[in-house]
Amino acid sequence: MRTILVVLDGLAFQVARDAMGYMQAECAAGRGQLYQLECELPSLSRPLYECIMTGRTPVESGIVHNGISRLTHGRSIFHYARDAGLTTAAAAYHWVSELYNRAPFDAVRDRHTEDLSLPIQYGHFYHDDSYPDSHLFEDAESLLRRYQPDFLLIHPMNIDDAGHRHGLSSPQYRNKARMADGYLSHWMPRWLAEGYQVLVTSDHGMNDDHSHGGRLPQECEVPLYVFGSGFSLRADAAPQQTELCGVVCQLLGVPHDKPWCRELLSISTERVMV
Ligand SMILES: [Zn+2]
Repeated sequence: MRTILVVLDGLAFQVARDAMGYMQAECAAGRGQLYQLECELPSLSRPLYECIMTGRTPVESGIVHNGISRLTHGRSIFHYARDAGLTTAAAAYHWVSELYNRAPFDAVRDRHTEDLSLPIQYGHFYHDDSYPDSHLFEDAESLLRRYQPDFLLIHPMNIDDAGHRHGLSSPQYRNKARMADGYLSHWMPRWLAEGYQVLVTSDHGMNDDHSHGGRLPQECEVPLYVFGSGFSLRADAAPQQTELCGVVCQLLGVPHDKPWCRELLSISTERVMV
């Protein structure tokens, strides 16, 4: 099943629950479910991109701080999907390109990527944290229309950016979450009508010191909204952040060797073996 993974950078669970009216309305209509995940530590971006994409904790992957700009030593959703002959795409921060395509990031070479040999075959990558989420969602939609990817990662940065400038308990931070909810209301109905499975989550949360990295609940508790027929929508499922890679591989039907949360899915609970 074709799958879209949206990682809203820096979105704390409490704000995802309270500020995202469209997402909640889809859930109330029986079309989705919201779960609370505990992110792995440290609650930092690059370590947790790697966690989400490869199913390994930062200590296991070695990506333990944001300054490590090298390719992954593991295998990501992009690798599994490409190797299974599927089409992969991402509209994401440049660290994602560095982890899975090429490092260091060369903006002129890498900002717009089209290369079937790379794990992320089609990509639009940005490196300014204030790159507008509105544009990023349009970049993603362009990839979707042009290439009909089997797996698409959408990764906007404005919520995290507002949190660093104004803190968790600020109108600016909450309003960026509301804006992301608005962009999703613009695009997601069509994704679902076209049969895409959709996951909306975050790497980590945010605190009132305008940062994140530790284990405060507001830094560690992140949302996982799921939509699509591949999900059980069972309220008692308890997915882990390290299981997202395996969950997406199961949805895509590609061989992998990662853990995944069986209760989250309605589809076959047999692992497609590598
Ligand atoms: Zn941040």
